Amino acid sequence: MGSQRPTSRSDLRTLKSYHSPQMEVEVRLNTNESPLPPPVGFMENLAKEIMGLSLNRYPDRSASRLRERLAGRYELDARQVFAANGSNEVIQSVLLAFGGPDRSMALFQPTYAMHGQIARTTATRVVSGRRNEHFLLDPALVVSLVEAERPEILFLCSPNNPTGAMDSDGLVEIALDAVGKYGGLVVVDEAYGQFAPTSALEQVAEDRALLVTRTFSKTWALAGIRLGYLLGPSWCVEELEKVILPYHLGAVTQLAGVLALDHEVEMSARVESLVAERERLSSCLEELGVTVWPSSANFVLFRPESGPRNRVWSGLLDRSVLVRDFSSGEGLNGCLRVTIGTQEENDRFLVALREVLA
Ligand SMILES: *Cc1c(COP(=O)(O)O)cnc(C)c1O
Repeated sequence: MGSQRPTSRSDLRTLKSYHSPQMEVEVRLNTNESPLPPPVGFMENLAKEIMGLSLNRYPDRSASRLRERLAGRYELDARQVFAANGSNEVIQSVLLAFGGPDRSMALFQPTYAMHGQIARTTATRVVSGRRNEHFLLDPALVVSLVEAERPEILFLCSPNNPTGAMDSDGLVEIALDAVGKYGGLVVVDEAYGQFAPTSALEQVAEDRALLVTRTFSKTWALAGIRLGYLLGPSWCVEELEKVILPYHLGAVTQLAGVLALDHEVEMSARVESLVAERERLSSCLEELGVTVWPSSANFVLFRPESGPRNRVWSGLLDRSVLVRDFSSGEGLNGCLRVTIGTQEENDRFLVALREVLA
């Protein structure tokens, strides 16, 4: 009997799996989830309608009801909507169809780690540019990176995770012009789009190589359902349908998405109160003397200016408050990211931080 173990693809061996600690704490402010469960009315409808599902049958493969509802919501056609198990699976589908060996994807650091991770697992080469010291993107830098590298996919993230910054108005147009010279694709990850004042969604059209991704995980308080989608030209969506597995989106997931869209008013009210809490938390952080970056999302990036890097994060954890530690992240020296929670959670965080900094 041989004892040699099989090895994975050589390009995966140095790759680490995505890691965000899941710990039992009283105040969990580390993964940008909604602090509140979905509305009770939604849960009741979901429970009731699940009874009517034929779970012995495969789900609607084209998720047509969900896609039609989303299309109606954004005044597009159902053929311009693609849905999957979380926007991470949406992004993976984009990379499978438009990336791959001998192709490249451009992104701008610091940004959401999964973009680069998914590129690597699909054997797509990553070319990185840098955001400036305020974490903003210089359009001239975007254009020069595109001209030098001609990436098949240009990834933007606005508001950007983990910095919270929005890209400037007009950047998408500039990016589309630049990649249009050789047939590239622009993807804007808008996981936090509803918390921000502007969006690239209005620019989605059949004659533009632009995809905008969104998720039910943050605004819609449905991280546990795993549902994300993108809006873009139908000829792009057709390519994505070739790489996705048949029946990938379960019947319960599709149903949850459709029913959630009936509760837009409640969801919008939550977004508004989270935005108000974000502004309150940001000014309290400034009063505590930590550096705070302006955010258009449901989290705030900040940097304590004294003491050893990890001390603040573990001091908060000692007080049962979990935030995300980016202190050793590229370009994020000493930074932590706090998700906006309920008013009570945010107050607990502020009290704990005041103690740790004292
Ligand atoms: C949270 C997040 C996502 C969402 O991922 P899902 O798979 O939809 O839960 C996507 N992009 C960014 C930038 C995020 O922060």
